[in-house]
Amino acid sequence: MSAMTFRATILTLYPEMFPGHLGFSLAGKAMERGQWALDAVQIRDFATDKHRTVDDTPAGGGAGMVLRSDILAKAIDHVSTDDNRPRLLMSPRGKPLTQQKVRELALGEGVIIVCGRFEGVDQRVIDARGLEEVSIGDYVLSGGEPAALTLLDAVVRVLPGVMGNALSGTHESFENGLLEHPQYTRPQVFEGREIPAVLTSGNHAAIDKWRLEEARRLTAERRPDLLR
Ligand code: SAH
Repeated sequence: MSAMTFRATILTLYPEMFPGHLGFSLAGKAMERGQWALDAVQIRDFATDKHRTVDDTPAGGGAGMVLRSDILAKAIDHVSTDDNRPRLLMSPRGKPLTQQKVRELALGEGVIIVCGRFEGVDQRVIDARGLEEVSIGDYVLSGGEPAALTLLDAVVRVLPGVMGNALSGTHESFENGLLEHPQYTRPQVFEGREIPAVLTSGNHAAIDKWRLEEARRLTAERRPDLLR
C-alpha cells in the first residue's frame, strides 16, 4: 500500500495564519515527510472590484458584515473542481466536532475548509456548494482559522504513521467513549505524593483493570453524558 498524502485546502482571509502551530512537533514532522499537505487560499483574490471587497452589510440590518456568496463560491470552485474532498465550513452553528468525525475525516483523501469571519457567511453559498458546518464548541470565536487549525490538529495526529508509537491513542479520551485514566511518570515521589503502587507493580492485568476503573470513575464524575 503506497502512502497517501492527506491534502487540506483552507479558504481564508488570513492565509498567513497557516500552518501555524501545525508546522511544529508531530504535525510539522509529518508534513515534512509528506504525510499531509496544506494549502491556504486567499478568498480576497477572488474579489472583483478594485477595493477587493469580500463582505457587505447584512440584509435586514444589524451589526457587522457578512461574507459574500459570489466571491466565496468562486474561491470554492477554483479549489474544488474534480475534487471529492468534503467541504467544511467552520461555524458555531455546525455539528459539534467529535473524535469519531476526526477519525472519519482522517480516512479520506483530505478536506476543504472555509473559514468564516465577521458575522458569518451568506447562507446561499452554504446551500449552493453543500458546505458541511462544523463547530469546535459552544462559544464564539472571531474567525474560523483557529477552529480549522484545531480540527486539522486532531485529524493529522491520527493519520497512519504520524504518531511515533502506533499504540498510543487507542486508550485515549473519547476513543472508547471514556475519558483517559490519570497519567504518572518519574519521580516516584513528588512533594510527598506517590505514583499509585499498582502502576509500578509490573502486573499488567492489574494495571489495565486500574486504568479502566479510573477512566470510568472520571467519566462518571466529569462527563456523565458520555456514558449515556
Ligand atoms: N454571528 C455568528 C458568529 C460569527 S463568528 C453566529 O452568531 O453564529 C465568525 C466566524 O468564526 C464564523 O463564521 C466561523 O467561521 C468562526 N467560528 C466562530 N465560532 C466558532 C466555533 N465555535 N466553531 C467553529 N467556527 C467558529
